[in-house]
Amino acid sequence: MDMAKKPQIYMDCNATMPIKGKVVDAMTNILKETGNASSIHGAGRTARGHIEAARTQIAELCATNPAYVFFTGGATESNNTVLKSFQGQNIFISAIEHPSVMDAAPGAQKIPVSPDGLIDLNQLEIMLAQHPALISVMLVNNETGVIQPVSDIVRLVRKISPQTRIHTDAVQAAGRIPIDFSALQVDYLSLSAHKFGGPQGVGALIMAPGAKIEKMFHGGGQEKRQRAGTENVAAIAGFGVAATLAMADMAAFQNLASLRDRIEAALTAAEPRLKIFGQTAPRVANTTQLALPGVTAETQLMALDLGGVAVSSGSACSSGTIKASHVLEAMGVKPETAMGALRISLGWSTTENEVDQLIAAWLEMHGRIKNKIAA
Ligand code: PLP
Repeated sequence: MDMAKKPQIYMDCNATMPIKGKVVDAMTNILKETGNASSIHGAGRTARGHIEAARTQIAELCATNPAYVFFTGGATESNNTVLKSFQGQNIFISAIEHPSVMDAAPGAQKIPVSPDGLIDLNQLEIMLAQHPALISVMLVNNETGVIQPVSDIVRLVRKISPQTRIHTDAVQAAGRIPIDFSALQVDYLSLSAHKFGGPQGVGALIMAPGAKIEKMFHGGGQEKRQRAGTENVAAIAGFGVAATLAMADMAAFQNLASLRDRIEAALTAAEPRLKIFGQTAPRVANTTQLALPGVTAETQLMALDLGGVAVSSGSACSSGTIKASHVLEAMGVKPETAMGALRISLGWSTTENEVDQLIAAWLEMHGRIKNKIAA
């Protein structure tokens, strides 16, 4: 028997953002073309043209020079490349980095964060007396949406330890807030296309002049000999189109803050024991992380899924495994509260009506489980 299926409302945009129609159109056209960007003939030159156009579009998104943009297979690769280039040296990372930074530098020292999820600049200042080779701090946290004071961090590092190289994972900032690579004055910046309406499996590493890497892939001379392998031309072109659209849509994206605030207000009104993380810190417009202490995130996630809404528990990349989020742990959140944390992340296609449906589904769930919530 054919079961009528509720249409899914997708509110897990920090895991992956719905791809934009113009991106699909651009990629579809290019997929029909043949040509290796390293070939000298006309077909090769056409493919090369798509890649260089995208490089310019990514540079525009980050207010930088196209010559500093290197394409990768996603931000995991960009992050790994930078962190592994400093293997064996003293590395600092924030305690709330994505696993693609954390696991690539298992020996790194962690810079603590405050209870509202912001890097602790006082602690960092003390730690900098060690003059690390590299420091890696994300621009926006993927779970809480908290915007980190990267400019202040760079100023502090340049003052106390001018030789230290600085990397920022800007994956959750791109398309959400303006990024100015030159003004930030970092040495390395990672991007991922699928977090702002582009395709999955393509990203970039932006490198300032003089910043070096140990390349991960060996072979052909692509990407100025920094990343061997035939380029994924259609994906790179889609990434470029997504970057241009993200800049045009940046102002509209900020309107998501009122929908996010509506969710937080409605849920808090129904349940005063609800905890919202990073609410007092500067946040991107689309993200809220909130917990019902004592009720596991999986229970809530499944109830909402049955109600037709897709959200995430903690970091989506590790949502296959059930353990409390290291981000909330670093913010000093008690484990039984952290285990009950959901992340709701809206996107360019989110509507008011969808937000109302999420609130209704959450209230229905809440009615059934409220006697299980811890004080
Ligand atoms: N960094 C952050 C902050 C992320 O949220 C993610 C994806 O979840 C990544 C890095 C990894 O990006 P990619 O999916 O392109 O490998």
